[in-house]
Amino acid sequence: EAKKSGRNTQKFFDPVMQQTLDARVALEHSLLKALPNNEFKLYYQLQVDHDARPVGVEALIRWMHPERGLVPPMEFIPLAEEIRLIVPIGKWVLETACAQLKAWESTDIANALSIAINVSAYHFQQSNFVDELKTITNHYGVSPNKLKLELTESIVLGDLQDAIVKMEQLKALGFILSMDDFGTGYSSLSYLRRLPFNQLKMDRSFIMNALENANDSFLIQMVTSMAEQFGMDVIAEGVETEQQQQHLIKLGCKAFQGYFFGRPMPINELEAVLKRSN
Ligand code: C2E
Ligand code: MG
Ligand code: MG
Ligand code: MG
Repeated sequence: EAKKSGRNTQKFFDPVMQQTLDARVALEHSLLKALPNNEFKLYYQLQVDHDARPVGVEALIRWMHPERGLVPPMEFIPLAEEIRLIVPIGKWVLETACAQLKAWESTDIANALSIAINVSAYHFQQSNFVDELKTITNHYGVSPNKLKLELTESIVLGDLQDAIVKMEQLKALGFILSMDDFGTGYSSLSYLRRLPFNQLKMDRSFIMNALENANDSFLIQMVTSMAEQFGMDVIAEGVETEQQQQHLIKLGCKAFQGYFFGRPMPINELEAVLKRSN
């Protein structure tokens, strides 16, 4: 018994573990202040057609930490989900994107573009999610068909029927629904049949090796034609070279996103790029 608790005590004071705990507590503490301190920023990455013409952008959140500088989303979104801060953060993303869409309406460089936003499963699963979207787009006077919601298949992990009902409601309101990271989950195919997505976003892991890997190419071709059968369009993410894009075009892909067309960038840079490409 003494030995047992001795071991536990030792484990508790493990300096590495303690450091990890301290770091997490510190991160959590500063994350709680990020929204009121206005430390989040949206970056935008172009989405283009086969002629590299911009058709939309994806909004990607960045955290400008006062001491640590720019913190990438993978380092704080999972924590934000854990402590449920993802709902107010998601709402901020939505409002910022809507304000941007409204501002673009009166320009000729961006009035046709849609904005895609990433929605966390926990946020989507809130009972008032559809109402919140309706209220915010109404408030900003933004047409829902300019807003694309990128959802992952994890939205169905709770209640599949509830997810389908919400998606149908969102579609009826005019929102565009895109299945993000397609190909990384477990049951993509069976869900795809039942979930009313407008678009399927093929994960970068598919695209990465397609030029060298005949199996990956075959999968892309299969997914593209299957999506077409289901009435969905397909966008490829993580396109880094022109050869990749040409290859994807041959496989039936019609929309693209990736470093080859532009990195995620702050709004002023994006607008400069759009002006030049106009
Ligand atoms: P995602 O939605 O799948 O976004 C694509 C990620 O791939 C982005 O990373 C983007 O910068 C990166 N990327 C784009 N093109 C290329 C390329 O050609 N090569 C490579 N290597 N990478 C490329 P980022 O911005 O770090 O975002 C990571 C993830 O964080 C996103 O994955 C998304 O799941 C999440 N995320 C980002 N913003 C938000 C947000 O506002 N809300 C929520 N809930 N999640 C977000
Ligand atoms: Mg995304
Ligand atoms: Mg993705
Ligand atoms: Mg991804």
